Amino acid sequence: MSDSTDIRADLIAALDDAAYALRRLDRRGAETTASDEALTAMREGIRDVVPEPVAEPPVATPSTPMPEESPQVADPSPTTIPIMTLDEIRADLGDCTRCKLHTGRKQIVFGVGNPNADLMFIGEGPGADEDEQGEPFVGRAGQLLTKMILAMGVRREDVYIANVVKCRPPGNRNPESDEVEACEPFLRKQIASVQPKVICTLGNYATQTLLRTQAGVSKLRGTFRVYQNTPVMPTFHPAYLLRSPNKKREAWEDLQAIMAKLGWDVPSKKD
Ligand code: SF4
Repeated sequence: MSDSTDIRADLIAALDDAAYALRRLDRRGAETTASDEALTAMREGIRDVVPEPVAEPPVATPSTPMPEESPQVADPSPTTIPIMTLDEIRADLGDCTRCKLHTGRKQIVFGVGNPNADLMFIGEGPGADEDEQGEPFVGRAGQLLTKMILAMGVRREDVYIANVVKCRPPGNRNPESDEVEACEPFLRKQIASVQPKVICTLGNYATQTLLRTQAGVSKLRGTFRVYQNTPVMPTFHPAYLLRSPNKKREAWEDLQAIMAKLGWDVPSKKD
């Protein structure tokens, strides 16, 4: 790596650290003299004057397993993923044709919710209703997710919801590896932008993709895992809960664990 690349990486990392700290302070209601926008502008300035690195750091593939028993979570730390606003990420995605899923979609389903949410839900990919409306989790499963969120004492718009892939796989099949490889970087940028305090992965696919594990959600749920120093609670996909309502109790226990982790009031039982 060249000296200029080292300098560029160091400067951007330092500004990412500062942006991260500012957002944490802002969430705590502290007054600051610099804005996140100003830091973003400085980062863009660095891009203009210091050459782009020749090679990006390698990103692990979904086939790379992660230890199943992750350590308990320490304070979140800055990631190596560039921090962009959600608008910037969406603009970068554009009218995407990076994978073959673009051929069958009606529209890209990017994500929805609070850009500074403490809690982020991640699903697999859009279904027919989502493809139609351009918003994740709006069909029957989405309505159940909305009820689950309300049961946690917050509104749907208080959290952030996104999927691993942004275009509907035909016939609601699982996304294929090349499709995930093309689309997943945008999910990771969304996570880096929102900086949630807790991530909840919904179902096998999102859990296995984010955590780089082959283990199923039945085995992983109930215990916090870690992604980029952020605690991750895997739980059942709402579509699965519609088919297997006897699993709702375990899902509710997972949501209660999330509420406790976030310092939210935890009701003694689900309404
Ligand atoms: S799934 Fe993602 S990578 Fe593939 S076309 Fe849609 S937006 Fe692009």
